[in-house]
Amino acid sequence: MVTARTLQHKVPFLDLAAQYSVLASEIDEAISRVLRESSFILGREVEIFEKEFATFCGVEYAVGVDCGMSALELALRAYEIGHGDEVVTVANSFIASALAISHTGATPVLVDVDRQTYTIDASGIHAAITPRTKAIMPVHLYGHPCDMDPVRKIAEQYGLIVIEDACQAHGARYQGKRAGSLGHAAAFSFYPSKNLGAYGDGGIVVTSDRHVAERVQILRNYGQREKYQHVVPGYNRRLDTLQAAVLRIKLCHLDTWNDARRRHAKLYHRLLAGSEVVTPTEASYADPVWHLYVIRAAHRDALAKHLSNLGIASGMHYPIPIHLQPAYRNLGYKKGDFPVSEQYAEQILSLPLYPELAPSDVEYVAENIQNFIPTMPGGSIQAETLSNAVDGTGNLS
Ligand SMILES: *Cc1c(COP(=O)(O)O)cnc(C)c1O
Repeated sequence: MVTARTLQHKVPFLDLAAQYSVLASEIDEAISRVLRESSFILGREVEIFEKEFATFCGVEYAVGVDCGMSALELALRAYEIGHGDEVVTVANSFIASALAISHTGATPVLVDVDRQTYTIDASGIHAAITPRTKAIMPVHLYGHPCDMDPVRKIAEQYGLIVIEDACQAHGARYQGKRAGSLGHAAAFSFYPSKNLGAYGDGGIVVTSDRHVAERVQILRNYGQREKYQHVVPGYNRRLDTLQAAVLRIKLCHLDTWNDARRRHAKLYHRLLAGSEVVTPTEASYADPVWHLYVIRAAHRDALAKHLSNLGIASGMHYPIPIHLQPAYRNLGYKKGDFPVSEQYAEQILSLPLYPELAPSDVEYVAENIQNFIPTMPGGSIQAETLSNAVDGTGNLS
């Protein structure tokens, strides 16, 4: 039924302008302060933001860089990972997780994800380890922390470095500790749509290892320790000073924004319980920050189209697993290698979720998912919903 309401109602996937309108005076003030000081490269704003973000994560050091992928790559390079080395990560992630490994010269070795959390299945790591393995890169996908205890146990057993890809998990907690403090080092992205987003690209490496923080500082700035004294062939991968000024303001709001995301997620859980779609779960060890709210549906593409017709935007994160991307043909993987990642890639749908979303928007989206009747024949994945043992709150039972 097409009513006046459905014609008017639009739910975007994200609304960055809504956030800016609340912060406009503070942000404008901070930007004009940087412009007046005309100190555009590194300097005070970057240093203070690094300290504030390190404190937020519960680590000793943070080093701002130009994007999340650089943060991952420079963290790996700080541990001298490169040609001839292997790094274990997941098939179900944004391509940057694997590319950061490749760009050091090392080889990404992929493993599948856990059916409940969509993050690294630690039981698959042993089989992926060879004498060349140097590190494990778990990805806290969608803002849900990985089960780190088994990952760290394996890392200890084999003497491996653990570098968290926390690019979607600013503020998430695992057993009460923040993402970013759970391995040897971690990388965050400040891409505008992330839970903490800049007004452009940005990223940061966090660690409690002073030596590693210093290495990243040197690598991001032409390999110099002192001006014009280049100790290694480094890069220009610095965090922009204007972005640091913006991020300092936004960091003050991050916990509040993450709380709003949690409320929206809980409302989705409740309103979608008993529907044809599989809602995301929260492991008992996790306090996720809902970078994305990802459901699974048997008729995913038809559902996305149905929602789009009703003015509701959605996304797919990610429609093609890393091992099936043409860019990674050379790794020699084939269809069937990572069945969970492959199956989920065809079922996942990300619903609108951002702090400024109105509860009535969540209701509108959920209502229209409940109303969706696929016209194509085919089974539902309700049976799997039950096998995932999800209770009405979306908690793993
Ligand atoms: C966004 C993202 C990255 C890369 O961050 P950029 O800032 O875009 O380079 C890496 N890994 C994951 C999981 C991400 O979501």
